Amino acid sequence: MPPRKRMKFPGSHNFATVSAEPTPLRRAGQGHGAARGGRCHFDYTRALPMPPPDAAHLPAMTDEPTPSDAAGGAPALTVTDLHKRYGAVTAVDGVSFTVGRGEIVGLLGPNGAGKTTTINMILGLLEPSAGKVRIGSIDLRTHRAQALAHTNFAAVYSALPGNLTVRQNLRFFALLYDVTDFAARVAELIEEFDLATLRDSKCGLLSSGEQTRAALAKALLNRPQLLLLDEPTASLDPSAAQIVREKIKTLATTRRCGILWTSHNMQEVEAVCDRVLLLSHGRILLEGDPRSLARLHGAASLEELFIRVAREPLAARGGSSA
Ligand code: ATP
Repeated sequence: MPPRKRMKFPGSHNFATVSAEPTPLRRAGQGHGAARGGRCHFDYTRALPMPPPDAAHLPAMTDEPTPSDAAGGAPALTVTDLHKRYGAVTAVDGVSFTVGRGEIVGLLGPNGAGKTTTINMILGLLEPSAGKVRIGSIDLRTHRAQALAHTNFAAVYSALPGNLTVRQNLRFFALLYDVTDFAARVAELIEEFDLATLRDSKCGLLSSGEQTRAALAKALLNRPQLLLLDEPTASLDPSAAQIVREKIKTLATTRRCGILWTSHNMQEVEAVCDRVLLLSHGRILLEGDPRSLARLHGAASLEELFIRVAREPLAARGGSSA
């Protein structure tokens, strides 16, 4: 089994630490609120497009797909028969799904179901054992930089570098994402996420909710066509959570951004997601509209259905998932 590398962000490290280590998203034992107090260990720069320096400012070759090709009709995300094995452990076992443009898809499942591993592969942080990821029409494996240029993410456990202020962080990531109007874009997002009074505060000193708002602002810097949100409201108070949900829904509707959203809050999922995928033991067991899926499967609520899938995954698949 490969070692699980960990990384600290907030507070006690210098900036060079940020890109020091290739590190997948959170691992077991890291949950809500991990963004604070140095428990975060996510290498943001690994999920950046990062073209090689000499190719950074060259136009895309005409025979290669570009993100704008995707606007023609390809879903924001297409995952095909994705597998991830760690020795004897199969974390993801043949997962296929799409996220349409303007669609919010909930990726649900009990602890250890394979959600984070799936997200890590979509972000190019983990190499799949098999299968394919396409962002728009672009193959992540063969055109990584172009695919990730229009992708972004936020996760409750992956705080921004804590020794930089909110504004420094946003400017830094705007430059890494090659955002052309970066000063204006940063100002716009500071305003949109109500960060004006915090813009010169170090991120490591912010409350969990404030850090989440900063992370969401960072996630929108490059006007993503695909946004991955891992428990985006987990550390927010009910009022802030509702504001974030509305913002994300508006983003999907007005900018046609495809959103993959993980949450353990089934009421939130019903309120936000157009479609849900219920994952267990690395496989998608159920899929459908969160407002009708429970009824279709004889459960009183999505939460009840979730619990049933978590406890009896074989029954949820009609006994056919061996
Ligand atoms: P949670 O809701 O608890 O975060 P999850 O659905 O995100 O869970 P993953 O973190 O994707 O689940 O883990 C899926 C499975 O793969 C788990 O059994 C986990 O122990 C295993 N796993 C993940 N990373 C590794 C690794 N590097 N080496 C070995 N096993 C791993």
